[in-house]
Amino acid sequence: MSSFTDKYTASFMSGLIARNPGETEFHQAVSEVLGSVAPTLEAYPYLLDAKIMERMTEPERVIMFRVPWMDDSGEIQINRGFRVQMNSAIGPYKGGIRFHPSVNLSIMKFLAFEQTFKNALTTLPMGGAKGGSDFNPRGKSDAEVMRFCQSFMTELQRHIGQDTDVPAGDIGVGGREIGFLFGQYKRLRDEFSGTLTGKGFAWGGSLLRPEATGYGVCYFAQQMLATRGEGFEGKTVVVSGAGNVAQYAAQKAMRLGAKVVTMSDSDGYIYDPDGLDEEKMAYIFRLKNVLRGRIKEYVTEYPTAKYVAGEKPWRVKCDIALPCATQNELDADGARALVQNGCICVTEGANMPTTPEAIEIIQGAKLLYSPGKASNAGGVATSGLEMTQNSIRQKWTAEEVDSHLRRIMSDIHAACLKYGTGEDGYINYVKGANVASFLKVAGAMMDQGLV
Ligand code: NDP
Repeated sequence: MSSFTDKYTASFMSGLIARNPGETEFHQAVSEVLGSVAPTLEAYPYLLDAKIMERMTEPERVIMFRVPWMDDSGEIQINRGFRVQMNSAIGPYKGGIRFHPSVNLSIMKFLAFEQTFKNALTTLPMGGAKGGSDFNPRGKSDAEVMRFCQSFMTELQRHIGQDTDVPAGDIGVGGREIGFLFGQYKRLRDEFSGTLTGKGFAWGGSLLRPEATGYGVCYFAQQMLATRGEGFEGKTVVVSGAGNVAQYAAQKAMRLGAKVVTMSDSDGYIYDPDGLDEEKMAYIFRLKNVLRGRIKEYVTEYPTAKYVAGEKPWRVKCDIALPCATQNELDADGARALVQNGCICVTEGANMPTTPEAIEIIQGAKLLYSPGKASNAGGVATSGLEMTQNSIRQKWTAEEVDSHLRRIMSDIHAACLKYGTGEDGYINYVKGANVASFLKVAGAMMDQGLV
């Protein structure tokens, strides 16, 4: 690193940490972007004078609110709701809603910050936001989830709208929750609009939106592998997570000819040496999305598989790893195991699943490695396509949506190549994604003056 990059990064980060104490995930996300864009700032000093990084790291608006609701036993429960509207330079705020007990301001800000750059990469006009609550849907009845969603939306509806801020799903928020949230929004605002994405197909949703993030991850991985003359065919794939992103990443990888041998949740992982097939996938979809069960139940159905409690799947020998659960789930030990076992490609489905130390190990070993903001952007991109379909009051076929998705993932890959290819030919996808999206957002902010 140049002395400018070192000095600028150190002084910027110490200011950011002092202003946002304790927000470790937010610090981590900013530090990663800064590491990539500092040389760009040095090359364009007017961006430094305009304090563009200082502006990008200060959310345009943060909303925190009380979410009171009553559980099935009649007891009153209080949760905390958030919406971080980070940046609207290139379009209305857009980003998911997460329901998970770990949700706090730091996690919301890191996700909203990442979302701003991810949305810029999609080529669609969407600003960045994120929202959520520390509500834990696990073990709650449908009626409890509905009452919570209605209370959450009763406050959130004041701050969102189809031209203002368009939320979607994320961890703990799938089709069921989007339905309850949309129903309450419609009731309170008396409008049927495209204010939420991930809606049911019968009431404004886009075909392929549920599949889009996971499928997009695999389309992006295909492009990465192609830079080395490789593909999914015959490869062994390790997937973490068993939620929306993991399910469809696993399905697509399998359909592209790979052997997918693991899936996981926060309690452990399953290892199936024979790999998933269509029948096993159908079982997983039903287990997770209908019965809302745990991944360990897979081994009761398929006894040749084994369940490893309390562990992550990174020690399983594989060619391709797709981390699709949550932030910081792949640490330095996991990265070392992947490298030692001959893995050639790590494509992130989750947001920031790889720790900074693990990224260093993976990139140091010259593995193909892409950050979530590039490789999981297919979800928000297809949400953008859902917004377009809502605006023109039309529905596209699955083939039409899929071809847009493939093109967008390919454009994102091309942007990463443009800004991330080093002199030795190694593609630094982190740098490529960060610089390409930073230049776009910074340019729009400069055009719009000091707002
Ligand atoms: P889901 O809620 O559908 O699934 C999340 C999965 O991750 C579950 O298997 C869950 O297990 C596991 N998980 C959650 N927290 C932890 C944890 N602390 N440790 C280990 N495992 C954990 O969420 P999604 O699939 O929608 O999201 C997964 C990731 O992808 C997130 O990082 C999200 O931000 C990102 N993403 C999602 C998009 C989307 O369209 N849905 C778009 C782009 C990114 P358990 O049941 O035990 O909690």
